[in-house]
Amino acid sequence: MAIIGIDLGTTNSLACIYRNGAAELIPNGLNSVQTSSAVSIMEDDAVLVGAGAKERLISCPEATAASFKVFMGTQRALSLSGRSFLPEELSALVLRQLLEDARRYLGEDVTEAVISVPAYFNDDQRCATKLAAQLAGLTVKRLINEPSAAALYYRYSTNSADGQMMIIDFGGGTLDVSIVECFENIIEIIAIAGDNHLGGDDIDRAIVACFCQENGLSQQALAPGLRSELYRQAEAAKIALSDAPSATISLRADGQQYHLTLTHLLLRKLCQPVFDRVRSVIQQAMKNRNHPALINDVVLVGGSSQLPVFGDFLEEQFGQRPAVAANPEQIVALGVGLCAGMKERAEDLQDLVMTDVCPFSLGVATYNSAQDKTPHMAFLIQRSSMLPASHQGNFYTLHDNQQSLRFEIYQGEGYYASENLKLGELEVQVPPGAAGQQYASVTFTYDIDGILHVSAKSSGGDIRERLLLNSRLRFSEEEQQRALERIAQIRLEAQGSQRERLLLEKALRLYQQAIGRQRDALSSLINDIRAQMEFGDLIGRQKMLSQVSPLLDNIEARLQTEPELSDFWGWADESADDNFSADEEL
Ligand code: ADP
Ligand code: MG
Repeated sequence: MAIIGIDLGTTNSLACIYRNGAAELIPNGLNSVQTSSAVSIMEDDAVLVGAGAKERLISCPEATAASFKVFMGTQRALSLSGRSFLPEELSALVLRQLLEDARRYLGEDVTEAVISVPAYFNDDQRCATKLAAQLAGLTVKRLINEPSAAALYYRYSTNSADGQMMIIDFGGGTLDVSIVECFENIIEIIAIAGDNHLGGDDIDRAIVACFCQENGLSQQALAPGLRSELYRQAEAAKIALSDAPSATISLRADGQQYHLTLTHLLLRKLCQPVFDRVRSVIQQAMKNRNHPALINDVVLVGGSSQLPVFGDFLEEQFGQRPAVAANPEQIVALGVGLCAGMKERAEDLQDLVMTDVCPFSLGVATYNSAQDKTPHMAFLIQRSSMLPASHQGNFYTLHDNQQSLRFEIYQGEGYYASENLKLGELEVQVPPGAAGQQYASVTFTYDIDGILHVSAKSSGGDIRERLLLNSRLRFSEEEQQRALERIAQIRLEAQGSQRERLLLEKALRLYQQAIGRQRDALSSLINDIRAQMEFGDLIGRQKMLSQVSPLLDNIEARLQTEPELSDFWGWADESADDNFSADEEL
């Protein structure tokens, strides 16, 4: 049975399979290889995942969620139509959709996957990703760091020179920077740095804030649907600047029309705080190398790396403009697919070797003396250690006849334990004795998935082990079983109607924006789509899809570029010839 590779992104998720000697991206029901990581609960309780759900951020914000990957590993629950979901559960729904699409495309059952995570994901976030996979009924064969997957595919598919290169993955919600050393078929990740809360979403937020400030609007006072619409337009304007000198955002609120013209100059100014943070992550990655050498290639991946102002900024930093990878939004998925192929031991990938490193240091809290009140870190695994890594340390009693030694396990770089992320605890019994006589050996093993296993053995022979993953899945066995059943019971929107559903959701979103005749036109289109969804035969539905789609694009473009005139310009008259109407077709 095939193992698939999954890039579970903040913004977009992709699935990939290695077969016939190549990594092949798997298309979804909309015939796109990218599935928006958005989830929406429909009126009939079915769950819609993907582009249609993204549309519903605007028309049904209270039933829809996106960008939930940024909450992975936290307790933050999101409410959709009054039902509470953990980020793991929402991610599980995205995974289920990808899995269904993969099964349909491959014509076989799929139950195993390699999943990528941001390199800078901590233990909590990695465990949450594994849990999401379990809830979707998937067995995770391996977690791989996103930039490592990108490096793997880049090296495999291009003739880059041996030596060190830097991969910058700048996506929607996370930034990862990896430095990779390549020699023939060996790809060694030697340093990682990142920020789990830095990406294109932050740029969108800055644009929205600027729009509100310039127009004297309060973001909090905007209705949720309008706010989502503003974010959508901010993102669209930002992307439009990839090939236009400027783009306009316009929003109708309380009967008034508000505008902002986004230029490269303004965008650059708004991006500066984000870029300052990018700079420090790049510097950190350079410092994290154990063997510094000249970087002979910088490769940009991730959707946000396509921003021309990002290229400008990097050019200032490096004195040279780095190349954007040929497929910046897909290269991680292609790399994960390749990794899945390596897991399956595909013959033609046998020579390929990739090693990765630990992005954080790991250790236990320790005291200098019995009087010491502020524990500091004793690190057992230093960051940038090659995986899998295993190290042991001995820790002694501080009091006479101390009965046990308790270890608090932390991840992070701070001197004091309290500055770092606590991962768990472990306690072993020790025989009676004078202070400093009895001890315990603690062993940390960091596996290739970037998950920590800890064991301790006392001088009295007491042995305790802890696979942190199991103890830290927030659910008990029972709760997990319940969550599994809950997720399994959720019905996903049928594949056959996903394209119509996307059109309908888009029309509903535009309807909210439009007024006057455009709104009338949309209203009749909405009727047409709904009628076809309910009663149409295959040909009727196909016709509708091919005719309505450009009409909606047309209306959207007009709403975007001619805001002041939208009240007066007749859309229906001009396009009367190709106007799809229910009368003709039914
Ligand atoms: P993730 O891996 O986090 O899901 P992606 O790598 O798919 O993210 O990138 C998504 C981000 O890229 C979004 O913030 C989106 O706005 C941004 N983006 C996509 N295309 C462009 C473009 N042409 N110019 C600028 N930003 C873009
Ligand atoms: Mg990504």
